[in-house]
Amino acid sequence: MDLSPAVRNLKPSATIAAAAKAKALKAQGIKVYDFTLGEPDFNTPAHIQEAAILAMKSGHTHYTPSGGIPELKAAICAAYQRDYGLEYKPNQVVVSNGAKHSIHNVLTTVIGPGDEVIIPAPYWVSYGALVELAGGVCKIVDTSEESGFRLSAEQFRAAITPKTKLLLLNSPCNPTGAVYSRSQLEALAQVALDSGVWVCSDEIYEKLIYTGEANTSFATLLGGKLAPQTIIVSGVSKAYAMTGWRIGWTLAPVDITAGMDNLQSQETSNPCSISQYASIAALSGPQDTVEEMRVEFAKRREYAIERVNGLPGIQMPSPGGAFYAFFNVTKHFGRPLGAKGRVVHNATDFCTALLEDAHVALVTGEAFGAEGFVRLSFATNLDTLKAGFDRINAFLGG
Ligand code: PMP
Ligand code: GLU
Repeated sequence: MDLSPAVRNLKPSATIAAAAKAKALKAQGIKVYDFTLGEPDFNTPAHIQEAAILAMKSGHTHYTPSGGIPELKAAICAAYQRDYGLEYKPNQVVVSNGAKHSIHNVLTTVIGPGDEVIIPAPYWVSYGALVELAGGVCKIVDTSEESGFRLSAEQFRAAITPKTKLLLLNSPCNPTGAVYSRSQLEALAQVALDSGVWVCSDEIYEKLIYTGEANTSFATLLGGKLAPQTIIVSGVSKAYAMTGWRIGWTLAPVDITAGMDNLQSQETSNPCSISQYASIAALSGPQDTVEEMRVEFAKRREYAIERVNGLPGIQMPSPGGAFYAFFNVTKHFGRPLGAKGRVVHNATDFCTALLEDAHVALVTGEAFGAEGFVRLSFATNLDTLKAGFDRINAFLGG
């Protein structure tokens, strides 16, 4: 059977593929130091688990409205009021099967054939594939290490053409950890307002910032003037250690959420009913576990920054948020590496050699639109980080 052109040309998610490669090696009985996947290693907090058990026992095991139960939509609106002073109404919320699904539904709902989506690089692996699946065209704009991997207002303005529909922004950013300041976001928002280009702001790492600043939600910018042009995506995966529960959401003007709701009713129906009830407990219950996990990630971040900058020939801008170290390894291309003296010329081969020869798994920067870089997820315990960094250091001849 010939596959559809859309799927024939689709590459698998590089993060998930890298994790699978590490797992395959582990299955052979090899100890692998796995820093591929970006997901909290903590278990979901107990009160959230209990809410899920109660939901099951109370019979919440049936179909729900396809875009989410009213109670969860109300809890999401209340959380945005509490955290950002934003006044969203439940009909401006769509709950989906994880933020990845939310982004897919946003793009499928708003992007027509040939519409351009501006994506600052380095970008999260799935953005490009999801834009193309929706029939759109990616307009990749490279950001530099010197700018802390942030898109400037000038770069944004210069990338806009008559076909531009959307800017897909991610702060804190996966893979770079870049956190835009409020004034940098205001400058981007002004360009969006002047040009009429919409912004889809992926704020999935909103609770994981280490610089002392609070997250700026895009809809709060310019005194709220940009909210009618803003689509916010977030979810419970990162903040509440709930990656497996698959709950993400979109906040947007009602014509978009109505379209997304229709789409979802045909595509997947509702996200898991039990996960929805658990997410109410996550958003409305005590928030201290969010801070406890953030503090734990902060310690790992400190350690990762120190160790990356101690690797031979490597310097990295400090990630302000999320849980990734993203660093340039080009100095090590073209010279023998590790006990086997392997010579590599790109980041993908670097990661393969590091995995096969030193049993450390990272993700190649190529997957994020940044050749020469690698991503290390520090969402893992300090002992594993230490052992992994010792091995990377030895591999690089340190
Ligand atoms: N956006 C970004 C930037 C991410 O890193 C991820 C996943 N790590 C997602 C969206 C998707 O998250 P979810 O698990 O809720 O699908
Ligand atoms: N988003 C996480 C990551 O970048 C999880 C994997 C994925 O969804 O691609 O590692």
